[in-house]
Amino acid sequence: MTSKPVSVLLFEDDEGQALLTREALEKEACVVDVCRTGREGLDRLFGKDYDVYLIDMQLPDIRGIEVLRRLKTIKPAAVSVIVTGHGDEAAAVEAMKLGADDYLVKSPYMGHLATLPIVIRESLERRQLKGEREQLQTELWEHARLLQERNAELRRANEELKRLDQLKSDLVSMVSHELRTPLATIKEFTSIISDQIAGPVTASQREYLEIVTANIERLARIIDDLLDMAKIESGRVLLSKGFLELGPLLDHVAQSMRPLAESKQVTLDVTVPKTPPQVFADMDKITQVLLNLVSNAIKFTDGPGRIIIAVEDHPNEVQFDVADTGYGILPEDLPRLFEKFQQFRRATGAGGSKGTGLGLAISKRLVGLHGGRIWAASEVGKGSTFSFTIPKYHVEEVFREFLKNGIEQSKRSQTRFSIVVFAVQNFQEMKSLYGLEEVASFLKDIEAVLKEAVRRQSGDVVVRWQRGEMIVILAEVDKTGAQAIADRIKRIIESKTFTVRSQSVTVRLVTTTATYPDEALTEDELLKLTEQRLQQTVKAKTRIMVIDDEPKVRHFLKEALELREYDVLTAASGPDALELLKNHKADLILLDLMMPVMDGYEVYHLLKENPDTKEVPVIIVTAKGERKDRQLGMDGTPYNYLAKPFQLEDLMAKVHDVLQQQSSMKS
Ligand code: ADP
Repeated sequence: MTSKPVSVLLFEDDEGQALLTREALEKEACVVDVCRTGREGLDRLFGKDYDVYLIDMQLPDIRGIEVLRRLKTIKPAAVSVIVTGHGDEAAAVEAMKLGADDYLVKSPYMGHLATLPIVIRESLERRQLKGEREQLQTELWEHARLLQERNAELRRANEELKRLDQLKSDLVSMVSHELRTPLATIKEFTSIISDQIAGPVTASQREYLEIVTANIERLARIIDDLLDMAKIESGRVLLSKGFLELGPLLDHVAQSMRPLAESKQVTLDVTVPKTPPQVFADMDKITQVLLNLVSNAIKFTDGPGRIIIAVEDHPNEVQFDVADTGYGILPEDLPRLFEKFQQFRRATGAGGSKGTGLGLAISKRLVGLHGGRIWAASEVGKGSTFSFTIPKYHVEEVFREFLKNGIEQSKRSQTRFSIVVFAVQNFQEMKSLYGLEEVASFLKDIEAVLKEAVRRQSGDVVVRWQRGEMIVILAEVDKTGAQAIADRIKRIIESKTFTVRSQSVTVRLVTTTATYPDEALTEDELLKLTEQRLQQTVKAKTRIMVIDDEPKVRHFLKEALELREYDVLTAASGPDALELLKNHKADLILLDLMMPVMDGYEVYHLLKENPDTKEVPVIIVTAKGERKDRQLGMDGTPYNYLAKPFQLEDLMAKVHDVLQQQSSMKS
């Protein structure tokens, strides 16, 4: 039991039992008072509080259950244990319903007294636990309520802040605009005076005018920064992305800042990898960030010193670093560096800077708009390195951006805008034949030739589309112009030889075009149309394999068939053809009968034995006088033949017929 004695008020009319009960309990550190009647007990309910009320159900004057009811009315929190006679469980149930903590059934030889202290202890413990649980529950509810209140308050505050922020942004941009005009006038007239246009100026007057000019420039910078910030914060800054020429861009930044750096005896160098990574970003915004970082580096570096602008190519992003050998930044200032209006004078000397404390905050937002990160590392007395990243572009993103810009541009200038797609006809086959990497680099080669060919047409862009598998030209031309581009480029590409795994391959391109606004009115419509047309074109191409040992015949047939929009594969012998057919599918085979290595009969049989080629129809080309009546089909099916010399029309008619037969058989 607990260390403090437990006080018990016992309701028991039987003197002997009362005595025994008291003894049993006092052994277990209880202090027991006894009431011999219900009435006596009830009177005592108004007196002192007991830890436990032990009530016999059979009292002489009042029913035990009545005593319990009174107890619960007067002292609702009191712990009560009921003692019932044998076979009076109904009374126990009733008592428990009334809120008794436990009950005990009297045994004839008072055996229940052994368990009584345990029952009392457990009741007390249960009650204590219950109390604690209730307490916790109450606290929890209270917390939840407070949290809800706080949340509501925060939401209100947040909305108010947003409103104030918008108000502030509007105010800032309005005031800044209003300031710009008079400032420009002040600047203009100051230079008129200092240029002595309005009359002679003394040396000291000139000196003062220089101070005025410097302050005008500072004010102009502050206004620009404030306007920039307001614009970004109100979401009015839209990126206009393109591929950046990193070398020239960094050189331009360095060149424009070098005079300032050198005036402080600080050198300014640029390091760019030999083949700079491609960055797809808004050139003006990236230049602005770099200029800001470099001008800070100069501002916070005393000569002799050094600043390096560097670019690093990482797998998923391109990193720009601007490192200086300046004052450095205190570690405790670093976390707040990119917040608005932060200027730290502790590390940079008492004079501090003449900035706005907005440059880095603006830079952070501009980098963020590109999906990149910005951070700084610094050591006081040694220097700082500011770095930011621009994620590597995704072909689809580039394509969409150019498409969107193209349509917007042609909307503005009321011109036509076309999309010209070039797809390698057997791209999937090549991919399974040579692997994705080889084919990707092969596509890059095609893209390079295409870019070269397109450059003559200013304003056109060459981009990749559909996970990079297709090359697209976006040009401000009408439908006829687009078709002309498609034809011209197709001819150029197909006349070139490309190599994949040191094998030369000639490319067969499928082209298609779609024009805004003649054929589609929105970006999505234009894309849908292009895709539909592309599918039709790819599907329409039927591939014919020409097997002939005579190069001239092969060449002639290839040209003739290609002119009719067939895709043609050629092989100089049966074995060559069989090898090619392992990786290429053909819809029809033109087979020469008389060939030196393996004659047409043999090739035919091999084709028909192979499950991959046995369904492909074959036209046998025989010279006059050759035996053409031989049973060729394994199962005696008649074969198609064409006798040399033939008229081209005959050949085409035959090809057409056989293909049609085949497709009607399939359907
Ligand atoms: P501003 O340069 O207009 O003060 P910025 O936002 O560009 O505002 O910079 C904020 C502060 O960060 C600067 O005032 C300066 O204390 C600190 N800082 C920025 N760049 C450097 C640097 N390269 N070296 C040391 N401190 C710097």
